Amino acid sequence: MKKGRLIVISGPSGVGKGTVVRALLERDPQLRVSVSATTRPMRPNEIDGVHYYFISHEKFEEMIAQDLFLEHAQYVGNYYGTPEAPVDRMLEQGFDVILEIEVQGGLQVMKRRPDAISVFLVAPSFEVLAARLRGRGDTDEEKVLMRLQQARMEYLVASQYQYVVVNDRLEDAVSDVQAILRADAIKTEHQQHFLKEAL
Ligand code: 5GP
Repeated sequence: MKKGRLIVISGPSGVGKGTVVRALLERDPQLRVSVSATTRPMRPNEIDGVHYYFISHEKFEEMIAQDLFLEHAQYVGNYYGTPEAPVDRMLEQGFDVILEIEVQGGLQVMKRRPDAISVFLVAPSFEVLAARLRGRGDTDEEKVLMRLQQARMEYLVASQYQYVVVNDRLEDAVSDVQAILRADAIKTEHQQHFLKEAL
């Protein structure tokens, strides 16, 4: 069976990564999303094992020592990481696997898995991003400014991603990512069986 593809999706807080990923999953039965491990506290609407594996700091460091992560990073004081074995299992089963991760982790994946497809999501402008963060209502101004500062740092690293997709209208962002996956599937290196027929 054909192995699946690894897809890294990053982007600043407030850009709507989660919404884009959910819409992609609904549309494409070949897609799966990796469930990360984190040391940050669970939010009220979250389920352990669905949104994240919520684990202790000690357990996380034990997993780092055992080299169980495909990538891991610290983000606003907490650890986040992608357990490697489940991702490889899904890829072996032929599923395309999305990693919705921040940029330090994204860069690690690009190094370790050069075949990975990398997509950085942006808002139409920084002004729109700021408005979206303020519009959430649950964040004070200091936190909004911190997130915008963090976003600036992420945009600097984003040049190393293969694709930049603008999330203005959700539908457009989703079809852009689908177009990336479609174009990747028909790259010459994946179409060799057609060419070998002539030999
Ligand atoms: P949140 O705490 O809001 O769920 O996530 C904070 C940030 O961590 C988001 O940018 C999210 O994409 C990122 N993140 C989630 N899981 C992982 C992971 O396994 N590895 C890395 N490097 N980042 C992650």
